[in-house]
Amino acid sequence: MRKQILILPGDGIGTEIVREAVKVLNYLREQRGLEIELTHALVGGAAIDATGKPLPEETLAQAKQADAILLGAVGGYKWESLDIAIRPEKGLLGLRAGLELFANLRPALLFEELANASTLKPEVVAGLDILIVRELTGGIYFGQPRGVRVLENGERQGFNTLVYKESEIRRIAHVAFQAAQKRNKKLCSVDKANVLECTELWREIVTQVGKEYPDVQLSHLYVDNAAMQLVRAPKQFDVIVTTNMFGDILSDLASMLSGSIGMLPSASLDINNKGMYEPIHGSAPDIAGHNKANPLATILSVAMMLRYSLNQNAHAEAIETAVRHVLQQGIRTADICAVGETPVSTSAMGDAVVQALAMEQ
Ligand code: NAD
Repeated sequence: MRKQILILPGDGIGTEIVREAVKVLNYLREQRGLEIELTHALVGGAAIDATGKPLPEETLAQAKQADAILLGAVGGYKWESLDIAIRPEKGLLGLRAGLELFANLRPALLFEELANASTLKPEVVAGLDILIVRELTGGIYFGQPRGVRVLENGERQGFNTLVYKESEIRRIAHVAFQAAQKRNKKLCSVDKANVLECTELWREIVTQVGKEYPDVQLSHLYVDNAAMQLVRAPKQFDVIVTTNMFGDILSDLASMLSGSIGMLPSASLDINNKGMYEPIHGSAPDIAGHNKANPLATILSVAMMLRYSLNQNAHAEAIETAVRHVLQQGIRTADICAVGETPVSTSAMGDAVVQALAMEQ
């Protein structure tokens, strides 16, 4: 059956990079028989301009209908003075909540050709390939009670609550173990079980779930040690699973190991592996409209979509191989260019990936 993909370009460079990812999808559809149908809708600032809302009802309805969603990025200077409740970024949060996307998958992948782009020594990061699985809809970011209260002595006290139900831990653990099965079969669960009871439970449940995946080697690390290890020897990791807040911090740290924000894709999945796929970067208003943004993070997000939501591993691998070939040929957008190299445009990079795909046949 033909799979429905909803395309949400969003704002800023979103429209430019998504255009290139769509070129790749159309190539696979027209030349390789990938059975997909693409529809477009508005989100973020573009949706505010057209409808007054960052997430119009029809966009959410279309997202619910679709098998997978490809998002560019939202936000920009134009909407910064709006009330926080109707800013472009609310469109994104509304999609995550409305679709119950509880599992955020963020690979930190460094193509050997770009090892010099990292702030770490090339030998520490060359060939790096980690996947961080972050719980996205629970934990301290959502726990109640929360707020700022006034104590009897008049002093104010801020408070948040770290909460996880067994079922929430169990479902993210399953996603992580299954992702590890598709990779190098190593999973590290990150917690702070020595201090936080909630993550003591986290460790217990992850260990329980692990019994269902005897082919995956499970280890545990406290978050402070995990942060240190990620910088000291990041290649020791395959898949990492962790809570919402720890994942937020560690995945940003890990993304910087790989040098450029323009290279990293992400997936947010629901319980049935339906997902929203997007580059980890924002709408880059500083370079929007100049045809110079790097579209590879978005193109690699398409590869993740094919792997995780559409079960099309061969097509996913074909895209990743094509990206590697393009980098081997020395084709670079400005963000990954070394001094003295001449950068190509966003659209030229998209064309190069399609050409490399065609060469693979
Ligand atoms: P950003 O990620 O947009 O940009 C940070 C820096 O990285 C900028 O210098 C930008 O030019 C560069 N950059 C980003 N993507 C690039 C690419 N593909 N190629 C080349 N260079 C790239 O972050 P920001 O500047 O903090 O935020 C800009 C806007 O994006 C804000 O409105 C913010 O709220 C929004 N934002 C949206 C998302 C999202 O849609 N998922 C995520 C983060 C930020």
